[in-house]
Amino acid sequence: MTEVSVVGGGIGGLTAAQELAERGFDVTVYEANDRFGGKARSMPIDDDPAGLQGEHGFRFFPAFYRHVVDTMERIPDGVGSVADNLVETEATLIASTHRPDQVAETGSPESLRGWLEALRPAFAEDLPSEDVRFLLERLAYLLTACEERRENELDDVSWWEFIDAENRSQEFQDRLAFATQSLVALRPEVGSARTIGTIYMQLLFGQLDPNRPTERILNGPTNEAWIDPWVAYLEDLGVEFHPAAPVRGFEVDGGQVVGLELADGSRAGGDEYVLAVPVEVAPKFVTPELARIAPELRRIDRLETAWMNGIQFYLDEDLELTRGHQVYADAPWALTSISQRQFWTGYDLGERGSDDVEGILSVIASDWETPGIVYDKPARRCSREEIATEIWEQLKRHLDGPETRLTDDLLVDWFLDPALVETDDGVENRSPLLINTVGALRNRPPADVGVENLTIASDYVRTNSDLASMESANEAGRRAANAVCRRHGVGDTARIWELEEPAVLEPFKRQDRIRYRLGLPHPAEVTQSLRRVTSRLGGRA
Ligand SMILES: Cc1cc2nc3c(=O)[nH]c(=O)nc-3n(C[C@H](O)[C@H](O)[C@H](O)COP(=O)(O)OP(=O)(O)OC[C@H]3O[C@@H](n4cnc5c(N)ncnc54)[C@H](O)[C@@H]3O)c2cc1C
Repeated sequence: MTEVSVVGGGIGGLTAAQELAERGFDVTVYEANDRFGGKARSMPIDDDPAGLQGEHGFRFFPAFYRHVVDTMERIPDGVGSVADNLVETEATLIASTHRPDQVAETGSPESLRGWLEALRPAFAEDLPSEDVRFLLERLAYLLTACEERRENELDDVSWWEFIDAENRSQEFQDRLAFATQSLVALRPEVGSARTIGTIYMQLLFGQLDPNRPTERILNGPTNEAWIDPWVAYLEDLGVEFHPAAPVRGFEVDGGQVVGLELADGSRAGGDEYVLAVPVEVAPKFVTPELARIAPELRRIDRLETAWMNGIQFYLDEDLELTRGHQVYADAPWALTSISQRQFWTGYDLGERGSDDVEGILSVIASDWETPGIVYDKPARRCSREEIATEIWEQLKRHLDGPETRLTDDLLVDWFLDPALVETDDGVENRSPLLINTVGALRNRPPADVGVENLTIASDYVRTNSDLASMESANEAGRRAANAVCRRHGVGDTARIWELEEPAVLEPFKRQDRIRYRLGLPHPAEVTQSLRRVTSRLGGRA
């Protein structure tokens, strides 16, 4: 049997392990942490493994996810699969400090009125009509641009430039530009128009597709609802797991990897190696010989990361808010949250060691540079305690409407992502997240990187899903496994999905492909408003 060593037990590594083990490979996973799941893992908040669980940040699964959901459907859990632990959200609350709450339905609309309501977050009635018209033109441009134009032109322009945010209303900027920061910690000024635009459209299509749930989340802590049953299933398939086993590097000889050096000084071998560590760790594995054989590996260290980390507030009451996300529109630290208890059916908080806890508000902060309202410091310059206090205050101000919903006496405890480690000057983040900055696509390697027995399976690999997410980590794991299969003559490879866009747009994309190859601009560049923004793009064609 071909022996495969997987370095890193996050979503990418576990996916590769599954696809390979199911096809008869002999797989061993080496994970630095004592738990599997990487950024998606949940963990006990104290020494009691059966006690309350904390998370790096809550997880959501929008409608366009295919790969990760397919994997979940194949992981047994009781009489069904772990995919049965996904539950649909119903509404997003947009809380503001200066205007009444807005609630956007996330369920698929059933009536014309429902459809119009569903479109509200994007085309809200408070946007000037000129802005709405311009946005529609931009989206039409994006949707009818051929793949080459998206990769070679739109990846080199920021989302901010592409939607001409500078010259638009404040409402437009808040709704369409800065909203990306809460979603993926990606500032619109630096985020690629190609990535943000494509994902924005996917989210919108997901909202309008009556056949798929718009957005789902898990019905319990991630490890209980998904990762632990996954590891158990893989063990049944014969996968060997080594937790708390950080790998220091590869031994390379004759143009291929010949072994692993572990941090404890021991050594491990294998016929094939899958590198599934995060983007900031991967460059340490690229020896000069590997960089010479596969120049793409050298460019990984040009990829950029940003901070996006979570905190859970344990409350003595279940604060339901909306059945879905909350977005805190003017929070300087770009906060979003989920009130988890209502979704965690079958998860008895009373059995988790604390009789006082009745509710959990899980919050993610995505802006670590802007000063806060209590200490007037950016999050990265605060202590852990200050971060918790500051986030709590920002939430309180947003939820303090006609009725006060969040009060200090509700708070029992909090758990801040342990990846945030205190320094003399605030905190350092040991688990940053890849961001798709302008032009980053050319620095992202494929899973099959051109080294005889090495593949890459992590969220920074070039994938159809593109955005750093569990979906792209899963797709990368599949692509890595498929490369190994091909090398060893296994024909039955894992399925890879394209991002779906309406078929009716195909003729327009074909027309644009011809124009692109002739060096001509996109045909939609006909109106004055488009011409101003796209003159730059046209010049590059
Ligand atoms: C706060 C937050 C919220 C998020 N929310 C969502 C969401 O709702 N939906 C979504 O789709 N995505 C979300 N993401 C993104 C998603 O979690 C990641 O993109 C995805 O989990 C990455 O998986 P990965 O396997 O590529 O990498 P990781 O999860 O980083 O896994 C890599 C693994 O390698 C291990 N490792 C590191 N160094 C070594 C070494 N030397 N030896 C051995 N092992 C090593 C690490 O411990 C880790 O377990 C979120 C991210 C963050 C930060």
